[in-house]
Amino acid sequence: MNLITIPPGLETESFVLEPGALRDVPEILRKHWGARPKAWPVADGNTWKAAGEELAAILRKAGIEVLPPFLFPGKPVLHAAVEHVDELLAVFPEGCVPVAVGGGTINDLVKRASGVKGVRYCCVPTAPSVDGYTSFGAALNADGLKKTLPCPAPLAIAADSLILDGAPPEMFAAGYADLMAKIPAGADWIIVDQLGMEPIRADVWELVQTPLCDNLSDPADVRRVFLGLAATGYAMQLCRDSRPASGAEHLMSHIWEMENLTLEGDTVSHGFKVSIGTVAATALFEALFSLSEQEARRYAEPGLSRAAREAEIDALLIRGCYGAEAKKIALDKFLEGEALRERRELFYRNWNVLRERTRRQLYPLAELKAMLKKAHCPTAPAEIGLESGQFVHGVATAQLIRKRYTILDAVYELGLSKALLSAL
Ligand SMILES: [Zn+2]
Repeated sequence: MNLITIPPGLETESFVLEPGALRDVPEILRKHWGARPKAWPVADGNTWKAAGEELAAILRKAGIEVLPPFLFPGKPVLHAAVEHVDELLAVFPEGCVPVAVGGGTINDLVKRASGVKGVRYCCVPTAPSVDGYTSFGAALNADGLKKTLPCPAPLAIAADSLILDGAPPEMFAAGYADLMAKIPAGADWIIVDQLGMEPIRADVWELVQTPLCDNLSDPADVRRVFLGLAATGYAMQLCRDSRPASGAEHLMSHIWEMENLTLEGDTVSHGFKVSIGTVAATALFEALFSLSEQEARRYAEPGLSRAAREAEIDALLIRGCYGAEAKKIALDKFLEGEALRERRELFYRNWNVLRERTRRQLYPLAELKAMLKKAHCPTAPAEIGLESGQFVHGVATAQLIRKRYTILDAVYELGLSKALLSAL
């Protein structure tokens, strides 16, 4: 069994990634759940065919009891919504080991249902599409809003690379984009580290960022992409926060998610929204640091009064789909007067170091786009159904919805939003 080393102290204790890893599942279940585990597979019509049937046969052959599986329909596309967690909870068997056989959505539904029941579960991923397999918490829609609901990460993960290889190509592309997002997300972390606001954790950085360029170097290498995504999940477990995985590009994707972005009637995948966010965030970094410190000072617009900012926030949030908290979050982080002046000076003092550190972190925009294209990820807003107005609105509004400090806050506080956003 090809066990991958995971940092100690995490909720996930076993991680296998190899061709044929399905065959390791009986041993994994017995190791973590005792001699007579009762497996309860949860899948959908597609993932049951891709891996569930074979897994059930392997388990039975190994003498493990397999309860009747819970199968979501394969179509329409299953949404990560709390209603589906309730469906699982309604029939959740006593004393079972839930085994999530599927992509990010099924994993999140099982993770949350198991968390509510106080039961640990085993994850058998069928597509390298997200970094959420190994993270704690489940990203679910509740009352029209995407929320991360608390629940432990899987106790064990058995990723069969033959099955991952057979995943639909667009799911693989989505996973590649979600991994690429760690590049600008890292640059966001560099900003707050450099400014003394949120120091980088060296162990977490090492886990995610050090192997990142290697893991991104071949978009056809399913194993590496999956390892990169898994490492990010562990980093989130270590931090108890999504800072290592998500920056401005994810905030933009959340906006389009809350706006229910569809392309030709289909929901756009998380990874594809993040892909556009990654391009936009990188473009903003490039535009910002193409300016010298003197130019940044010269072009800076004066700060707004609180009342004017409130009006601006109201206008951006007018669709009303961004959550009840957004306005409060945006006003809480609003700086004016002396506080704003000090923040700008802090930036100017660090300008050259920030430019150099973020330049080293980021791919140049043209290279980034070429890499994403090679991996069949979208690089232009229209490719995911975003009109230019909706795109620019999303970039500006993304700054409002979370406390997390990113390039979007930097550009706003420096009084350069109008100049730089219009250039996008
Ligand atoms: Zn993501």
